[in-house]
Amino acid sequence: MPRFDADYVPRSAMAIYAHPDDIEFTVAGTVAKWAQAGCEVTFVLITSGNSGTHDRKFTRKSLARVREREERDSARILGVARVAFLRYGDCELVPTLALRKELVRRIRRHRPEVVLCNDPQALFFDDWYINHPDHLAAGKAALEAVFPCAEMELLWPGAGPVHKVHAVYVSSTVAPNTWIDVTETIDTKIAALAAHRSQLGDRDIAPMILEWARREARRVPAGKAAGKKGPGRPKHAEAFRVMRLLREE
Ligand SMILES: [Zn+2]
Repeated sequence: MPRFDADYVPRSAMAIYAHPDDIEFTVAGTVAKWAQAGCEVTFVLITSGNSGTHDRKFTRKSLARVREREERDSARILGVARVAFLRYGDCELVPTLALRKELVRRIRRHRPEVVLCNDPQALFFDDWYINHPDHLAAGKAALEAVFPCAEMELLWPGAGPVHKVHAVYVSSTVAPNTWIDVTETIDTKIAALAAHRSQLGDRDIAPMILEWARREARRVPAGKAAGKKGPGRPKHAEAFRVMRLLREE
């Protein structure tokens, strides 16, 4: 049976997010850590970020092409071999039944032990960021696909044999209950983010990412830092709401 203690590394994981660079901003430290430990990770990007620029030299088509290439470069840095693009429209995402079914198909095909996705309840961050509607839609569609749809035998048999995901790691969450120590992979996360040049240009993103990860580490309750050996808090952390769908008896 799976365990979700400090040393837990899933055998396989699927990160389902709206845009190229969402995974990098939120969970890339955990992804790199798990990939280095042998976890087989799949990225599912629901859009290719084809509205994500104020630069008028792009068309939606040319921007999608650039951003898919950036995501593949980033995945390579993180040790992730499989990247799928569903090519829904950026800024147009809604959690439709068609999207849920497509995600069920992916989950049943790749059979991940863990799914990572965004928290569809997280509307506001601090006093300066209204969460992107695509992030909320992607999180909702991913959770609905994981439970109950992927595991129901009578539902969508053409989408493949049913699969029960063991746990969901919900990121950018309003109610974290687990922190992963990413001190050893924070530099890899920053390198992966830097691959998204269409979004960041020459901006040095490192100070902001380090500060976010330090801030999460300070929120870790004593004894709750997954991956931290010995007492004390990690230096850098990523926060999750972990939902354990397959309980130890
Ligand atoms: Zn995004």
